[in-house]
Amino acid sequence: MRRVLAAVVLGVTLAAVPVRTLAVPVTPVGVSHIHRPPIVWRPIPFGERRRSQMGAYSLRHYGEWTWRLLHPHVIVEHYTDGSTFGGAWATFASNAIHLGEVPGVCAHFVIDTDGTIYQLVNLRVRCRHAIGMNWTAIGIEHVGTSDGQILSSPAMMRASLRLTLWLMDRFGIQARNVIGHAETLMSPFHHEAYPTWRCWTHADWQHADMLLYRERLRRLAHRTGVPIGPRPAWVDPGC
Ligand SMILES: [Zn+2]
Repeated sequence: MRRVLAAVVLGVTLAAVPVRTLAVPVTPVGVSHIHRPPIVWRPIPFGERRRSQMGAYSLRHYGEWTWRLLHPHVIVEHYTDGSTFGGAWATFASNAIHLGEVPGVCAHFVIDTDGTIYQLVNLRVRCRHAIGMNWTAIGIEHVGTSDGQILSSPAMMRASLRLTLWLMDRFGIQARNVIGHAETLMSPFHHEAYPTWRCWTHADWQHADMLLYRERLRRLAHRTGVPIGPRPAWVDPGC
């Protein structure tokens, strides 16, 4: 999630955005061998009041009153910009006003530094973790303060890739729609009704680091037979 919020000026033309051109082996649906990784259920309070706040948020930002997450198309990877799972859990549980609005921020999963995967929110519920994406995105946080810290941690990467791939397999999410928070503006699924929020994103998981992350993800997908889908289709956000 990273607290630094900035209107991102990508400063690149669409043609300048590196696009993966690897030929992608296609595996028939129904033959994957990815198993659900161990997940520790540590729910944050998400009762009727918070669900109602999420419904109203969805109406304001996505044009439809609902707190339900149906058929997610995207997984957004984040890092917490903190050093402990407990700190992240407390922040997400607090339901504090963020950018002048409720509900507070949250994520469906948090991966701790030792590779433990915690689930905080039911996957049928929308979580507020990335502007423009919450209507269709599952959020995965990693405890840490940089992309590089997580990429260089074997325990965190093993957990992150296994969780992400299992979610891809479960919901039919394509590898190109596993994105870093910093890539959200280039996603074809990005939608934000507030003109002033349209070019806002965060700095966690930069494009270059996500190229490496997705390459590792594709390798694991290939080994386990999980379909990864076609090449990326980035959009120019005009920001
Ligand atoms: Zn983030």
